[in-house]
Amino acid sequence: MTEPRIALVTGGGKGIGRSVALHLAERGYTIVVNYNRSADAAQETCSAITAAGGRAGAIQGDVSNPSDVQRIFSEADRSFGPVTVLVNNAGVTRDGLLMRMKEQDWHAVLTANLDSVYYCTKEALRGMVRAKWGRIISVASVVALIGNPGQANYCASKAGIIGFTKSVAREYAAKGITANAVAPGFIETDMTEALSADARMALMTQVPAGRAGRPEDVAALVSYLASDEASYITGQVIAVDGGMTMC
Ligand code: NAP
Repeated sequence: MTEPRIALVTGGGKGIGRSVALHLAERGYTIVVNYNRSADAAQETCSAITAAGGRAGAIQGDVSNPSDVQRIFSEADRSFGPVTVLVNNAGVTRDGLLMRMKEQDWHAVLTANLDSVYYCTKEALRGMVRAKWGRIISVASVVALIGNPGQANYCASKAGIIGFTKSVAREYAAKGITANAVAPGFIETDMTEALSADARMALMTQVPAGRAGRPEDVAALVSYLASDEASYITGQVIAVDGGMTMC
């Protein structure tokens, strides 16, 4: 990489996003850490990056809101330059069995997890097309591939990311821009901390590797997909799941 590339990580303050931000910073990218509510966590991520000699800044914004997304990208551009690596990581869950799932929980998850990917990717593409280089990496989930009771909204949002990613990959493959999805299995973060001991145990029985994943397991793949070495990989969905969904 000749000059530092600018990577925007949505929801980059915590969990998988934080680990991705740290990994990319170690590899020389300038990091824009987007957060919505967790300002302290985002600042801590930036401090860890700058303490290690990297460059980072935090930008607040709700990625499910298109005007916030426009502002995030213009602030990032003003402070650092055009974003050419986009990691669509922000995500939420509102679990419940379908017959009891409230409409607001359906929409909240689809908006936060899928609409956000559309808004951010569209915004990022302008700079990537100009640069004739770009990396779009979206965090889906293995449940998009295999389903999960109690998560019809979440699975639909993550499956939507996969179809979206493949279409973007086809539209921009000839312009030096790749689009891929990573599909984590069971990764230890705040999102999975809420699971009951029984639910954890049930999940673990499905993981041939015999352990839960760490955010770094996902971040390592994201870093690779963001690199020049991954220029011939596009439109893929790659699971990081300890063998949970091999087929
Ligand atoms: P997490 O620790 O709960 O992090 C979720 C992140 O998303 C937070 O940084 C949060 O930021 C951000 N976020 C949520 N809504 C947002 C919005 N509207 N605008 C901006 N940021 C928003 O969970 P995680 O496990 O690291 O999840 C990261 C991604 O991995 C998600 O897409 C999740 O679906 C996916 N995933 C996780 C697992 C797992 O086992 N953990 C498995 C498969 C996929 P604020 O706190 O600032 O709101």
